[in-house]
Amino acid sequence: MSANPSRQQAIQTITSRAPIAVEKTDPLGKIWAEDVFNLDRMEWALSKSAFKSMKKTVQTGVPLDPGTAEVVAAAMKEWAVSKGAKFFSHIFYPMTNITAEKHDGFIIADADGSAITEFSGSLLIKGEPDGSSFPNGSLRMTNAARGYTAWDPTSPAFIMHTDNGATLMIPSVFMSWTGESLDKKIPLLRSNAAMNTAAQKVLALMGETEIATLNSSCGAEQEYFLVDSAFANSRPDLLLAGRTLFGAPPAKGQEFDDHYFGAIPARVQVFMQDYEDQLYKLGIPAKTHHNEVAPGQFEIAPYFEAANVAADHQQLMMTLMKATAKKHGFTCLLHEKPFAGVNGSGKHVNWSVGNSTQGNLLDPGNTPNENLLFLLFCGAVIRGVHLHGPLLRSVIASASNDHRLGANEAPPAILSVYLGDQLEKVFMDIKEGNLKSTAEGGEMDLGLTQILNFKRDPGDRNRTSPFAFTGNRFEFRAVGSSQSVSGPLVAMNTMLADSLNWIAGKLEPELAKGSSQADAVVAVLQELMNEHGNVVFGGDGYSEEWHRIAVEERGLKNIPTTADALPALREPSVIEMFKNTGVLSPVELESRFEVYAEQYVLSIEVEAKLVIDMATTMIYPAAIQYLGSLSATSGGLASLGVALDNTVANAVAEHANAMMASVGKLEQALHKEDFDSTEEHMQFCAGTIRGLMDEVRASADTLETLVADELWPLPKYREMLFIK
Ligand code: ADP
Ligand code: MG
Repeated sequence: MSANPSRQQAIQTITSRAPIAVEKTDPLGKIWAEDVFNLDRMEWALSKSAFKSMKKTVQTGVPLDPGTAEVVAAAMKEWAVSKGAKFFSHIFYPMTNITAEKHDGFIIADADGSAITEFSGSLLIKGEPDGSSFPNGSLRMTNAARGYTAWDPTSPAFIMHTDNGATLMIPSVFMSWTGESLDKKIPLLRSNAAMNTAAQKVLALMGETEIATLNSSCGAEQEYFLVDSAFANSRPDLLLAGRTLFGAPPAKGQEFDDHYFGAIPARVQVFMQDYEDQLYKLGIPAKTHHNEVAPGQFEIAPYFEAANVAADHQQLMMTLMKATAKKHGFTCLLHEKPFAGVNGSGKHVNWSVGNSTQGNLLDPGNTPNENLLFLLFCGAVIRGVHLHGPLLRSVIASASNDHRLGANEAPPAILSVYLGDQLEKVFMDIKEGNLKSTAEGGEMDLGLTQILNFKRDPGDRNRTSPFAFTGNRFEFRAVGSSQSVSGPLVAMNTMLADSLNWIAGKLEPELAKGSSQADAVVAVLQELMNEHGNVVFGGDGYSEEWHRIAVEERGLKNIPTTADALPALREPSVIEMFKNTGVLSPVELESRFEVYAEQYVLSIEVEAKLVIDMATTMIYPAAIQYLGSLSATSGGLASLGVALDNTVANAVAEHANAMMASVGKLEQALHKEDFDSTEEHMQFCAGTIRGLMDEVRASADTLETLVADELWPLPKYREMLFIK
């Protein structure tokens, strides 16, 4: 037998690795946001009036006039050039989860050959990448190939450094020439605006007179895996699909929970410190980091920020995380389920809405009035999740997140809301009419006292709920680790806008009747709870019982796969809501359905091809080689008169044959092309293709437990997860 060289070499390489020290860094106060053209820097660099306009745009989202843009462009360029930048780039977020960039030099060569740097307001405002290289769904037809990027002044520009230079990065939107959104940022900005408009209505009805622009906030907890790159590089599946398509479970998994509580390994700690220093320079407030449940799994969470900035920062965090991991000899896996049978990774999206005059409206507050507002906004969320559970499921749908949702380690694929015992009781009392108010306000005061005592941070965190109230915000836990937070934020802001509009429509006539505010709020919330209270659930979301009750008694939907989830984007109620709130036109929404459906099909087909390739060219040959050596050995032994039991050889032959038979079926299935609809194609991928991939894997994983260890071509789970 000759050992498989690449796997053995990888183990050798890794055993001799040491943490990679970074140069000593400066204190936080010195490096914080040093590469960001933020308001502080603008105040210093701009004239008073230009700064005032910029500040207003940043804080309220009103458009910037072209004259000011010209002034800001000049100041931004000067600052960037002084920091060594020779190039600038619009950075934007197409409908995939990726971040896109188009770099241009500041340089303009003069007629006499001397170089000058030029950067005008118009270049800052508008760029022109080739729209045809990005997915645009049905918009492809209407708008040919052209798309352009436009500066988003509400998210600060920043500088990215490499060892050899620097580039000014300008956060931008990406749209077609006819103004349709081709990206994830435009709907997010629009959803904030829709939420603001609806919230203003409700707040005004509730007697608030001074109401600042409302914005949504987001703090995203990111889970990820680190695998040594020597291992990752010898696994085609990790390289191309970001997850293992094969691999038998190790003898020791995460049963002992020792990783979660253990110290962070030295090499990882050094990576984290390097990474976080880069984040601080970019003004990203990294706040916590720790080990996660699975071996080799970690989490990082920044402090929350305005949703639009948080979304840009989240994308940047993912990009930098991968690049920095590489520098430290790791491959960073953001896939939702890199290792079968081992906990997967999610991204908890913490979300709240508020402004500078009323504060956080999902925070109970200290006065009766604050509590009424809180109840209204909280009720609006309950209604939104109930009406739009399938939409929320569809915005977190991807081939990779399907492996994680509903697998009893992540929230189930049924959308419900967890409120915590106390708040749930308040809403149930409202529903049952037990929290009445009288003209004198006696009983209502009682009710409010009950709310005033509400503990902000209920000790009991229900980890099994996909959508949980956590004291002053909601936490959407079902979001996948590799996904952009924009989709979920758009859905949450829009359903909130829709519900607040509904509430305003109910509140107005109640108040017109002469009811007190408290009476009116309770009446509206009672109706709301009667219609939507079924979505509130405080029990164990993983239990079989809940799966039955949710569907049979509560009328909620269990949506296991992306193929089942994406059609929600074609539901008339969803199209209506996006249209009425102005967040996405029907054409824009349809194009999203098409892009996401296409990506789903493509990513499964790519994986299926890899399964065929690896089974045929790596795993089958290893099995045959082992059989060859068994047969040679047993021949030799026979000549000595010693007989070898054939059990192992038979099992290897049997599973190798079974695997290749499944490979044949999978190959056949991939040839099928005659689908009547996109939906049918997605269902075929979710059912037949995935099923056959699992079949191939089952045989291959059994072979891994039979074939001599030194012949096995792929790094094993125990090695990837435990050697650091
Ligand atoms: P846990 O693991 O207990 O859920 P973490 O501290 O890891 O908590 O993450 C909580 C996240 O929620 C952080 O990003 C935090 O900044 C964010 N967060 C806190 N308050 C709010 C809020 N009002 N709105 C949005 N996000 C918030
Ligand atoms: Mg959390």
